[in-house]
Amino acid sequence: MIPNARVQDAFPAPHDHRGTARGVTSRAVGPIPVSPRPALETPKVWLQGVSVSYKTDNGTRLLALDQIDLKVRQGEFLCIVGPSGCGKSTLLHLIAALQKPTTGSIMIDDEYVTAPGTDRIMIFQEHGLFPWLTVGQNVEFGMKMKGLSKAERDEKIHYYLRLVHLSQFRGSRPHQLSGGMRQRVALARALATEPDVLLMDEPFAALDAQTRDLLHDELERIWDETGRTIIFVTHNVREAVRLGNRVVLFTFRPGRVKHEFTIDLPRPRHLEQVDVARTAGEILDSLRDEINKSLEAEYGHEKGL
Ligand code: ADP
Repeated sequence: MIPNARVQDAFPAPHDHRGTARGVTSRAVGPIPVSPRPALETPKVWLQGVSVSYKTDNGTRLLALDQIDLKVRQGEFLCIVGPSGCGKSTLLHLIAALQKPTTGSIMIDDEYVTAPGTDRIMIFQEHGLFPWLTVGQNVEFGMKMKGLSKAERDEKIHYYLRLVHLSQFRGSRPHQLSGGMRQRVALARALATEPDVLLMDEPFAALDAQTRDLLHDELERIWDETGRTIIFVTHNVREAVRLGNRVVLFTFRPGRVKHEFTIDLPRPRHLEQVDVARTAGEILDSLRDEINKSLEAEYGHEKGL
């Protein structure tokens, strides 16, 4: 049994990774409004019986997600792992309301999700910065869309660029930055719109190992400082253990919740830490069957050639 991770079925009891209450105002830094934890654990994000099927080219339907029930609490860092094709990205798109479930419902703070909103934001592997805008203007963009005043925008650009340690690059263009710096700008841009929920789809998958390690540190610190709820999709189990306080493991198609693991390892964590590696190894044992099914689906047809 994993010493610091336990399989669980129930909605986890609230706890903070440093043993203190999350969302306490005194932990706020600068202008960030720290999201208060609602009384009595109303889930921040609540998926009930969510299924998605896609129409395929040959007219049949492909069941991508099957009856997902998932509660994410305020301020939680939830990681979702599973093999390629298990519906991880689809799940984030549903929460962002970029697409609708075939059946089931999604709630944020007790309200049904029916359209995209500024309370949720997605961050992708591709940073998606506007190359013709400076770093500062990129961070400003979403705030302009939200109608913030010039003074508010200036204050937040300053604050969020400082948070990701890029203040001195405010006037630079994205092509002048490294991949890791660009991803940090994307993070600052997302945070500047002050969403409650960050939906991160393999955001560090394209980065080299060293840069990814640094971004793990940054993201953990930012999460700690801002109290945001993060749903982070990855196929990298060790990354999930490094970051999450809960790891949800999906089956291969159709994606279903196979296991949930609460990760109690103390923070800060590091990828190379023995207990991180050991915990990841045990989760990986559970994932291996699903990876094999995914590989079989991807390459199996070639065996028949
Ligand atoms: P993951 O992010 O875990 O790799 P996805 O959510 O991207 O999985 O996809 C889940 C399954 O649904 C895959 O088999 C994929 O091919 C299929 N799929 C995703 N989007 C579409 C779509 N728009 N039309 C048809 N099939 C899709």
